[in-house]
Amino acid sequence: MNGVPKKRIAVIGGGGAAGLAALRVFVDRPELKGPNAPWEIHAFEARKDIGGMWMNEDPGESVVYSGYDDPVPPTPLYNSLTTMGPHPIMAFHDFLFPPSTSLFPPASHVLDYLRAYADHFDLRRHIRFLTSVESLRWNTEISKWELIAVEGDKDKRPVKGLYDAMIFANGSYRKPRLPSIPGIGEWEGTGRKFTHAVSYREPSPFRGLNVLVVGAGPTGMDISNELTQTARVVYRSAPGASRTDEGAILMRGRVIALHPEDNRVDYEDGTSDTGIEHIIFATGYTFSFPSMEGLVPDANAPLDCPLPDHLFSSTSHIYPLARHIFPLRDYSPRTLAFVGLPTLLVPFPTFEDQSQAIATIFLNGDKLDRAAEEAKISERYNILHKQSKSKLSYIAEQWHRFRHGDPELEDQFEYRRELLALAGKKGWEVQSWEAQVWGDTPVMRKEWAKLVKSGVSEDWVRGVGEKGVGEWVELMHKVVQHAKQQH
Ligand SMILES: Cc1cc2nc3c(=O)[nH]c(=O)nc-3n(C[C@H](O)[C@H](O)[C@H](O)COP(=O)(O)OP(=O)(O)OC[C@H]3O[C@@H](n4cnc5c(N)ncnc54)[C@H](O)[C@@H]3O)c2cc1C
Repeated sequence: MNGVPKKRIAVIGGGGAAGLAALRVFVDRPELKGPNAPWEIHAFEARKDIGGMWMNEDPGESVVYSGYDDPVPPTPLYNSLTTMGPHPIMAFHDFLFPPSTSLFPPASHVLDYLRAYADHFDLRRHIRFLTSVESLRWNTEISKWELIAVEGDKDKRPVKGLYDAMIFANGSYRKPRLPSIPGIGEWEGTGRKFTHAVSYREPSPFRGLNVLVVGAGPTGMDISNELTQTARVVYRSAPGASRTDEGAILMRGRVIALHPEDNRVDYEDGTSDTGIEHIIFATGYTFSFPSMEGLVPDANAPLDCPLPDHLFSSTSHIYPLARHIFPLRDYSPRTLAFVGLPTLLVPFPTFEDQSQAIATIFLNGDKLDRAAEEAKISERYNILHKQSKSKLSYIAEQWHRFRHGDPELEDQFEYRRELLALAGKKGWEVQSWEAQVWGDTPVMRKEWAKLVKSGVSEDWVRGVGEKGVGEWVELMHKVVQHAKQQH
């Protein structure tokens, strides 16, 4: 551009939904259009194609992500996974799933959808596949990020680059989090094993075994339901659950100790089970990033101080970030941003809204009112501190979670509205039906599973969506009404 160097932006994790959303928003900006555009954007993707967690691994696919002690599967996808939310609410802005798609489609449909999105907005040309970012360093002398990556499948080649700004979109569901239960280190032995949900694919390896699934979330629920097809006995542990010895799944409270010497599992209510042969921990994931000064994972990071002097990662949260995106310490918000840290919300449109805010702040950092952002963080901290009942790790675990129906904490739709307001983006306003559908999702998912089982779900969706999103909203309403009539 007439001798003026371009502003170079890097996206780490270009093939997942968050990276694609960032690319879509950036390539749409005037700053990236035309041969003389003042910006350019490069995305790095460790895997061979688009899809992120929605793409099954190839047999033997090994992706070495920086920051991991052991090799892990590149995706937590299990074969039977259908979406947790109905796809009309999941979809990116202005890009619906195809008409007649099952309301809670299997992962392969989400993969096709992400690839269609990438093709529609011509995003592939910005992505360097099979290239894993290893380390990042902010060079203060030249005010640029020094990025080091390795490229290639078998023959690896180093790749280096200098960038003005960095967007992390590397996903949160890959590095297993195991609870620190006494005895876990000694548990594995003859006839006894434990694994994490990240490597669960299907129930047949558990045929005839006594299996305990630990975890209160939807993954733990899906896996334990599916295991009833093959396992001899399925136990499921969730904090606070009462012991029930009836039904296909035997419910248990929190696991408090494992005793390998007599093959015993103790629960919080004082009861125990023996003879468990396999434990699956569906206990979530820890954040992990390419090595970067200032973002060294530290589970003992200062949690009792609302605004510490440095940016840190506790492995459950990154702090302090304005809007869960922009650093308020160590780095300028014009040079670093995170897409996709918040959980328990609708991810895809949120990724796009976050990216709108990022593009705006990368252009003009002054638009971020630091004092107001710090006040918001302190407010959230104080609410969570009050709720934590002195258990400080709770604050870290809850920091990026958007809990539906908690009147004290910010709501996901309000969060999105504020991002769009910051970016001055018109036309992507949150629709009034979205919050309703979000609240109805558990009922809808259960009812949809029944309609699938009874073989009528295809009739319900046939042709729906051809005339736009209104038809989907009507269908979702119909499913909820149907559920109510059945009870
Ligand atoms: C079991 C499960 C079910 C879910 N169900 C739903 C659902 O129904 N609906 C929904 O909307 N969301 C669901 N989610 C949430 C899901 O995480 C988001 O939908 C979304 O796909 C996450 O996208 P992402 O881009 O943040 O992460 P990912 O999909 O994990 O993508 C991150 C990408 O970054 C790449 N990467 C990582 N590190 C590097 C590196 N160092 N260098 C280069 N590349 C790197 C990875 O290879 C990957 O392709 C579910 C999550 C889980 C775990």
